[in-house]
Amino acid sequence: MNATNPPASVTRATFDEVMVPSYAPGGFIPVRGKGSRVWDQSGREYIDWAGGIAVSSVGHVHPDVVAALTEQAGKLWHVANVMTNEPAIRLAQRLCELTFAEKVFFANSGAEANEAALKLARRYACDHFPLNQTSEGKLQSEKNEIISFHDSFHGRTLFTVTVGGQPKYSQGFGPAIEGITHLPYNDLEAVKKQISARTCAVIIEPVQGESGVLPARRDFLKGLRELCDQHNALLIFDEVQSGAARTGPLYAYMDCGVTPDILTSAKGLGGGFPIGAMLTTEKIAASFSVGVHGSTYGGNALGCAVALAVLDILVAPETRINIAARTEQLKTGIAAINKRHQIFADIRASGLWFGCELIPAWHGRAKDFVKAGEKHGLMFLVAGTNVLRLAPSLLITEEDVRLGLERFDKVVAEVLAMQETTAAK
Ligand SMILES: *Cc1c(COP(=O)(O)O)cnc(C)c1O
Repeated sequence: MNATNPPASVTRATFDEVMVPSYAPGGFIPVRGKGSRVWDQSGREYIDWAGGIAVSSVGHVHPDVVAALTEQAGKLWHVANVMTNEPAIRLAQRLCELTFAEKVFFANSGAEANEAALKLARRYACDHFPLNQTSEGKLQSEKNEIISFHDSFHGRTLFTVTVGGQPKYSQGFGPAIEGITHLPYNDLEAVKKQISARTCAVIIEPVQGESGVLPARRDFLKGLRELCDQHNALLIFDEVQSGAARTGPLYAYMDCGVTPDILTSAKGLGGGFPIGAMLTTEKIAASFSVGVHGSTYGGNALGCAVALAVLDILVAPETRINIAARTEQLKTGIAAINKRHQIFADIRASGLWFGCELIPAWHGRAKDFVKAGEKHGLMFLVAGTNVLRLAPSLLITEEDVRLGLERFDKVVAEVLAMQETTAAK
């Protein structure tokens, strides 16, 4: 390939020709990134406040992470889990040092980390509470109920969509996995009524991401911990989105005063390289004995080398200082924008993670803002149809917040003006 013979160009329209239509991506194709800036095929620059949905935790092509990846790429890529590898052991060691965990299982995504967590909870119940041994001696337990919460999101495998609290993602796939109960988030009385000796696990996002950056109340989480202990149920924190320092501490549980039995991490842990991790205690981990669960790519040397480099950056004191400073800068800036335009009913922030909820008159219109963002060179996300969600790099600079706020103001003004034009017609 050379300059006189470039590869045939691909465009957004090519996507529609060759890809399964399960996504509706934006109008431009990013081809390059650096820090919190991204450039598209025509060289146009965007400020990235989306962070690949809380994935690009240290921004695009961070030099330390690129160095870790290229160094490992020149050494060893993959040996499968019939062998182990140094980066995987080091990463597990580091995660155990930094968290409550004593044991780690690696997967490739958030859904897979949750799949492992849910399977482990069921298996642990089978091992410790085999209430109903069948005549054939099959492993079985009546302690198999999983309690989850409305509007929660846990991934897209059949088990995780069924556990997730958004029926739109689980309907139409045939018989669902049984034994799952959905209750209202932050409603401890509802959990008290439901939880029993049959419950093997309660799974919760300490801050719900997909449903709009909604935090669980501290007393609710504390209550869940107590109820789980009373009923011998495991408490699973899905920190796929809230983890990797998104809310400030390395994991959100660290500021909640509650320690889960199992924690799942993915998204920001790999900073853009696919990896997922399930963290737990030695006692619980014992139920995943040899052969009980596995993954070909889980613990891949490249992914683990990258995550180690990302983790080093995430736990650096400067990172936490930056998260706090940029959070305040964004809060002040968005509040000022809201004062001018009166568009948000609520502005929620959990660290560098914002959910800006539109006023009722604008419900259903969140996507219009993202579209206008494209035009003004600003990338951000929606959560549902009523909330604009921001999840920028945790290393975003003061300048990229300032410039982004300038553009965000124009975005809001433009969408509001469009509405007025439509109304005037
Ligand atoms: C994104 C997400 C998942 C799923 O992660 P994938 O890597 O897309 O499988 C699970 N739980 C939460 C809370 C998430 O935000």
